[in-house]
Amino acid sequence: MTPAWMQDAPVQRLLAALAGGGVAARFVGGCVRDWQLGRPIGDIDLAVDTPPETVMTVLEKAGLKVVPTGLKHGTVTAIANHRPFELTTLRRDVETDGRRAVVAFTDDWRVDAARRDFTFNALYAEADGTIHDYFDGLSDLQAGRVRFIGDPDQRIAEDRLRVLRFFRFHAWYGRPPFDGPSLEACRRNAGALRGLSGERVRKELLRTLEAPAGADAADALFDTGVLDHWLPEYAGSARLRALRTREATAGVEPDGLRRLAAILPAGGDATRIGKRLKLSTQESVRLAVLLSETPPLGLAGGPPAWRAALYRQGRNFFVDRVLLAPEAAGDWRGALALAQAWTPPELPVSGADALALGLRPGPAVGQLLEAVEAWWIDGDFAAGRDACLAELARRAAAGEKPA
Ligand code: ATP
Ligand code: MG
Repeated sequence: MTPAWMQDAPVQRLLAALAGGGVAARFVGGCVRDWQLGRPIGDIDLAVDTPPETVMTVLEKAGLKVVPTGLKHGTVTAIANHRPFELTTLRRDVETDGRRAVVAFTDDWRVDAARRDFTFNALYAEADGTIHDYFDGLSDLQAGRVRFIGDPDQRIAEDRLRVLRFFRFHAWYGRPPFDGPSLEACRRNAGALRGLSGERVRKELLRTLEAPAGADAADALFDTGVLDHWLPEYAGSARLRALRTREATAGVEPDGLRRLAAILPAGGDATRIGKRLKLSTQESVRLAVLLSETPPLGLAGGPPAWRAALYRQGRNFFVDRVLLAPEAAGDWRGALALAQAWTPPELPVSGADALALGLRPGPAVGQLLEAVEAWWIDGDFAAGRDACLAELARRAAAGEKPA
């Protein structure tokens, strides 16, 4: 039985073009894995038995656009009906230095499977739905077992990024306990991860934290020593666990940076962490904001304090901070519900109203408006335009100095 995604027009067009040119192709990796689990599939990758130049010629003849994304590694991207597909020629890793592989092409599917990382990432599917499973990936997938293909130490020596991939895939697909030999190999090799690039670590780490079982993975990353170098600030997973519950309760999408903040100490040095993990300036600033404890959130203050914070801090920031607040800080459920239900009003008076009272333009007008605004917030936004105008006039007449 073939699934619906294989019937999609762009997929069928691609398959027809390949078959027409005598290229044998199988779906591989994430799409087969996720399909077998009944999860929505992401990108579609295919393995092909023909060298990349030939694949390009065949597809172009059939009228498809092809981009030579990684010819040396056998990868081309085909675009059918505006949809991209990655096609990689069957290959064997000839030589690896722990980061980059020199590859040779092959026509042996099993050899191609053997160079992949985990058993359930080496599942192939033919166009008729036939599955090829060379390393018991299907049973591992059903059991939630993330297992290296072959000797874990050797596979990690070939590419140490696989340690991080192990924890990421466990967080998304695994069930406790961790596969013993795989986990111990990760522990033995944790020190070697120092040499990875910050970008790659950040990508893996954030995707791991976004996963349903991200908290267990974070603890394991810490326990095996992976975080010693990359995140020595690790503050445990308790807040991350709470965060997950709150996100689910409030229907808020998981967010990698927010989840990162949840495993860091409040007030942590976002700039340093951002440098290490190659966060963008914008992301570092957001992380700093997530870790900061000022201005106070006032979660214990109930709806009036929440409305004030929502007005002053904006919904996104408010929600982030409520999601991350300590359990004892107050009624996070109520605060999140309020954030959804209530839209901050606009201050009912403006500079024009102040000028209409005869005030001269200048900084004093701004200060006066700020004072009225603070009064209006203190009154829980109850004052309408008339009351605000009256307050503005009263304060203008009193020549009040700003608070
Ligand atoms: P997702 O795209 O959801 O992260 P995926 O399995 O498609 O999952 P990719 O990183 O897109 O993951 O890689 C596609 C396939 O390539 C994997 O399923 C795996 O078979 C192989 N692969 C990717 N990276 C590595 C690696 N570092 N070592 C060995 N095999 C790898
Ligand atoms: Mg993929």
